[in-house]
Amino acid sequence: MKQFFHLLMRNRLAAAGGVILLVVIVLAILTPILPLADPDVTNTANRFQPVFSEGHLLGTDHLGRDMLSRLLWGTRLSLAVGFAAAIFAAVIGAAFGIISGYFGGTTDNLIMRGIDMLMAFPYILLALAIVAALGPGLFNALIAVAVVNIPFFARNIRGVTVGIAHKEFVDAAQLAGLSHTRIILSEILPNVIPVIVIAMSTTIGWMILETAGLSFLGLGSQPPQADLGSMLGEARSALITNPHTSIVPGVMILLIVMGINLLGDGVRDALDPRLRSGALTRPMAATVVERQSELPAPHAEGVLTMTDLETRFHVGERVYKAVNKVSLHVAPGECLGVIGESGSGKSVTALSVMGLVASPPGVIVGGSVRYKDTELIGAKYDRLRSLRGDRVAYIFQDPLATLHPLYKVGDQLVEAIQVHHKIGNKEAWARAVDLLKQVRIPNAESRAQSYPHEMSGGMRQRVGIAMALANDPDVIIADEPTTALDVTVQAQILSLLNDLRRERGLAIIFITHDFGVVAQLCDRVAVMYAGRIVEEGPTHDILQSPAHPYTKRLIACVPELGEGRRRLEAIPGLPPAVDRLEPGCAFAPRCLKKQATCVTQEIALERFGNRAVRCIYPEADLKQEAAE
Ligand code: ADP
Ligand code: MG
Repeated sequence: MKQFFHLLMRNRLAAAGGVILLVVIVLAILTPILPLADPDVTNTANRFQPVFSEGHLLGTDHLGRDMLSRLLWGTRLSLAVGFAAAIFAAVIGAAFGIISGYFGGTTDNLIMRGIDMLMAFPYILLALAIVAALGPGLFNALIAVAVVNIPFFARNIRGVTVGIAHKEFVDAAQLAGLSHTRIILSEILPNVIPVIVIAMSTTIGWMILETAGLSFLGLGSQPPQADLGSMLGEARSALITNPHTSIVPGVMILLIVMGINLLGDGVRDALDPRLRSGALTRPMAATVVERQSELPAPHAEGVLTMTDLETRFHVGERVYKAVNKVSLHVAPGECLGVIGESGSGKSVTALSVMGLVASPPGVIVGGSVRYKDTELIGAKYDRLRSLRGDRVAYIFQDPLATLHPLYKVGDQLVEAIQVHHKIGNKEAWARAVDLLKQVRIPNAESRAQSYPHEMSGGMRQRVGIAMALANDPDVIIADEPTTALDVTVQAQILSLLNDLRRERGLAIIFITHDFGVVAQLCDRVAVMYAGRIVEEGPTHDILQSPAHPYTKRLIACVPELGEGRRRLEAIPGLPPAVDRLEPGCAFAPRCLKKQATCVTQEIALERFGNRAVRCIYPEADLKQEAAE
């Protein structure tokens, strides 16, 4: 709730609308106790007094009645009728919608066809017909306006309910034996209330206008009672000679409707969970770069070299240092493993390379990423785009989420190829089939005609790999590509990637949280913890003698077949949140060998030959190993 108001107030227009509306509502509530003239007392000798005349701040109307008093009383009435009509329409419409969407079948058909019949009449004509049948009067106008708005609510809410009624949690409630009433009240209603509120906030303004319209035609409030519509109606004959009598109620209607609509839009945005973290803006095409330090020289020679890369997330007051001075490089034909627990910053590192971190909230604040001789941090968007998917390609974790569900996989491969190469459809299709063969998909010709949902998880991941290979890239960044797969398929995918790098000299950055996978595939490995590299070196050496206590314990988490009855150690505790990093070693709170000095100083990544470790009490003596 607090967050909701915070978001709402951050939207300036919505805040302005809210303030306007609040002032009007407070005035309307206070009207009976304000020192106003009686709105209905006529004084024809004093008619058509201009605005700001003595005793009549807003002048008088054609019968000499005080405009200010009539305006406030009229506003009060119009607001009350508008809100009442909106609530009436929302409650009845939503009830029809929920019942219709939840029960479906005949119930749905009956209700919705009834609603359709209501909708078949022209809107305003229907309202007029209802008032004509019931007789003129404000209450009847209210009913008419509410009734013509019921279909809008019923249709909207039915659509939402149909979507929810078949979700698993509703099935679960049914299995638990809950009655339909209970399910509707406790499972369905809480999920549709935001939609009801949004629909209401966008229609109240409209309903106030409609009621004013009916009053304007003389079918709503009856003289001498004032509402905004009847004031306008009475002023019609003096529109040219005494315009203030029309302008005063007109401006009030404008203010109310504008206030409601601005606020309604704001409410809609603030209630939409998808917009919450994104701060109501679309992500930009490339991550924002706000350099706070000089561009560092590359620390090593590689086809892709990251040096002191720093990526942060600015969320409200908080700054998450997701990637904290990370240096990595990978050579052609080499496979570099990046390993760490969930949340250690692996994905953000990978996405920073091509400026793919969502901004806002992501910002790259320093460091360098070089692809061959090109600096990628701060490069023009067109340059990044020409490299993305062409020279540097990605494979993501969930292949079902990364493939478009409505296109055949062959067409998606063709698209990936044609983005970067101007070749004909036939040729591109042949290349797509060829790619599917390379990733060992059987019957590639017919499989290219399949949709993603017709394939198994392993197949889809191979399509993902084929897509990454489409333009024969130099570097592939694979972000946990096998986590969603079972072990046999995982083994096949790993051997496929291994062959590809040997055959094509592909450089691979392989992100995982599984040391078993690293051991199979990677030449070198970097261990990440809380946004930092804590250890780096050749895979074999690190597996033999891990130097950082964290690495050692990660390795102890991997079961080995035929290893007898070794205990599988879990690491107790959780990685720290990266917005409040304490000085010193981030792993210290979970480390068994922690000393007082671990948390009093910054600990540097020390290099010994081809190994590096960020620990002052390492598990293995690297200096000696390097000397040997
Ligand atoms: P992993 O190592 O599991 O791939 P990530 O790189 O996805 O971890 O995340 C690293 C850190 O960045 C996490 O602590 C996470 O909380 C933070 N983070 C990632 N995306 C966002 C975001 N959009 N907004 C705020 N923080 C984020
Ligand atoms: Mg990740």
